[in-house]
Amino acid sequence: MNTWTTAAYLVAALLFVASLAGLSKHETARAGVSFGITGMVIALLATAVAAFDSASVVGVTLLLVALAIGTAIGLWRARVVEMTGMPELIALMHSFVGLAAVLVGWNGFLEADSGHSDLTGSLLAIHHSEVAIGVFIGCVTFTGSILAYLKLSARIPSVPLTLPGKTILNLGALAAFAALTVRFVISPGAWVLTAVTVLALLLGTHLVASIGGGDMPVVVSMLNSYSGWAAAASGFLLSNNLLIITGALVGSSGAYLSYVMCKAMNRSFISVIAGGFGATSSSAATVEGVHREIHAQEVAEMLSDARSVVIAPGYGMAVAQAQYPVADLTRRLREQGVEVRFGVHPVAGRLPGHMNVLLAEAQVPYDIVLEMDEINDDFAGTDVVLVIGANDTVNPAASEDPGSPLAGMPVLRVWEARNVVVFKRSMATGYAGVQNPLFFRENSQMLFGDAKDGVQSILAAMPARVGT
Ligand code: NDP
Repeated sequence: MNTWTTAAYLVAALLFVASLAGLSKHETARAGVSFGITGMVIALLATAVAAFDSASVVGVTLLLVALAIGTAIGLWRARVVEMTGMPELIALMHSFVGLAAVLVGWNGFLEADSGHSDLTGSLLAIHHSEVAIGVFIGCVTFTGSILAYLKLSARIPSVPLTLPGKTILNLGALAAFAALTVRFVISPGAWVLTAVTVLALLLGTHLVASIGGGDMPVVVSMLNSYSGWAAAASGFLLSNNLLIITGALVGSSGAYLSYVMCKAMNRSFISVIAGGFGATSSSAATVEGVHREIHAQEVAEMLSDARSVVIAPGYGMAVAQAQYPVADLTRRLREQGVEVRFGVHPVAGRLPGHMNVLLAEAQVPYDIVLEMDEINDDFAGTDVVLVIGANDTVNPAASEDPGSPLAGMPVLRVWEARNVVVFKRSMATGYAGVQNPLFFRENSQMLFGDAKDGVQSILAAMPARVGT
């Protein structure tokens, strides 16, 4: 690798670090994305230029064709993807990183096997251990991410698979991988690597299949982390420093994000990475009761009498794209002297920070958007809570029903407010598939219909009521 390529890789690596730092705050997130894009463009150009020096004409042509096709597909997907479709797109992208690591690993083995490698002795043994580890992490990432994609896009149900002795199966697979790796290093052969590949493909499928709906956010960030380690493993095999650094950055930041999310959701980190290790099968108590319906006109009247309002947004706000009328409603109420704040649950929506992005897009001021811990003690003194398309994140069963799949997960305690209005289209369950007793509480009323239409109808009903 020449000096220019090394220098370009160093600049790109620093830009990736700056990108992660920028993404850690609302105010600097846009700059963080720009740093990341610039770093990736530099990395791609440096890699392509380095290839001109060393690869054959056919190799360079293939590289340029792959770059053009990849760029075109990437630009197209980025333009058409809905915000609500981001998690499944991210899961699909992780699967590509996993698959690439598998192909790089197999290529490394085939090169050495056909005598096209200069490595001998202990260096060859290290190379083969890198191959086995790279293929293993890549396969787990590949099938795990495909499963996550299928669950997130609702192509398969999100209920956890609970095979008998699932923990023994997972631990057995890890022990078998260790034994196969030792065998592969001592005596490399295609059948051993094939066994590692099949084992890891099955393990990735089982790990993610065993995780239930409510815990999927942590799985997405764990797969993000795995994809980073898979890329780092490829970096070692290809002797590419940038891939090692970038993979390590993605791997460690993804692992840290998973840890933070596990803490926020009161879940065991070890349990989630081990595919639901130690989790018992749960059965939620049957929820019975009668719900009360409310109409936009009445909500407008209720708001005109309120002094404090909290809005708890969820996935339905994203589906309905209701953030703009919600921002208008906020502005109108604040002009009337009503204190309006937002309570955002850490896993509301379908990706970390989903609600914050939507509210920022609609120019809701950051200082009235509070996290769950900042708002939870204030619900008891709140006149009206508007639950806009949220369900699991406001479900009292999480703290009241030990048999619920949501048990133990901290939620927004909206039911402590004087009045709760729930905006949704039906009595259907949320992502975790659990019925919500909030809908049957005495102080709760349901405003049925699309959330955007509901908020717009309230706005239309307001001028005659509020401020008169
Ligand atoms: P939920 O997914 O629990 O519920 C969303 C509700 O929105 C549904 O009950 C649905 O009811 C309603 N809805 C859908 N479309 C509309 C619409 N157009 N207008 C009005 N309402 C609508 O939402 P939460 O945000 O409360 O919880 C997020 C869930 O997703 C959690 O279980 C979390 O673990 C999981 N998850 C989160 C991820 C993350 O990173 N944040 C990633 C993966 C999963 P109806 O059909 O009756 O309208």
